[in-house]
Amino acid sequence: MNSNYTTKCIQIGDKSIGGSKPVIIAGPCTIESYSQIMGIAQQAKAAGADFLRGGIFKPRTNPNDFQGHGLDGLEWMVEAGKQTGLPIVTELMDASYLDIFVDKVDVIQIGSRNMYNYSLLKAVGETKKPILLKRGFSATIREWILAAEHIAKGGNDNIIFCERGIRTFEDYTRNTLDLAAVPIIQKETGLPIIVDPSHGTGIRELVGIMSQAAIACGADGLMIEAHTDPEQSVSDKAQTIDMATLEMIIKRIKG
Ligand code: PEP
Ligand code: MN
Repeated sequence: MNSNYTTKCIQIGDKSIGGSKPVIIAGPCTIESYSQIMGIAQQAKAAGADFLRGGIFKPRTNPNDFQGHGLDGLEWMVEAGKQTGLPIVTELMDASYLDIFVDKVDVIQIGSRNMYNYSLLKAVGETKKPILLKRGFSATIREWILAAEHIAKGGNDNIIFCERGIRTFEDYTRNTLDLAAVPIIQKETGLPIIVDPSHGTGIRELVGIMSQAAIACGADGLMIEAHTDPEQSVSDKAQTIDMATLEMIIKRIKG
């Protein structure tokens, strides 16, 4: 690791986040079908990924866009996780599904749009589940840390920050990936932080190089959108890489 800071090591089955090695969380933006997530899970595992990600409830800016397969998608993902041995990461948007998530999901993602949803933060804080807290796209680092404190106040300090880019005047990229947040969060909180170069750039050609940059500044891991057929992705295809590229990125990082 390149980090100057030691972070809390969060154990998830036989994996850990915040330990000496960076972790790779990979999978599609959206769970589209049983065969889609199973195929991606198998190839992600073969590529060296540590966790499987995928959205079952999608926070879409446009209400007419696909909203996710919901609990059917969760069952497909659970099965893909079981078959490959990969722990699963998915986004919770509504506290009414919290019990199901606690039962079936290994890491609960709180998305960028919900970083300010204090009742949702409080609800996940009352569990012991690892929480992946994405940065609000207009949130300062201080606000982001305070969001984590809402979770920790309930007794859950199994929190992993995720830098996913912020909105700035720059519009070449989808967001501006703020890598300085990595050492700052580690120093200020002692908690692990991973980087999402997919939403952080919105451009698939930039995912590999920004993954290396994130690891170079000490990130505890990466979350990458990958698909067996990126062009057919129902969401975020411009930033989604194929499985061979994922394998190459992981090789570069893990050696
Ligand atoms: C995602 O991870 O697919 C996602 C919706 O990300 P964000 O909340 O960062 O926009
Ligand atoms: Mn996405």
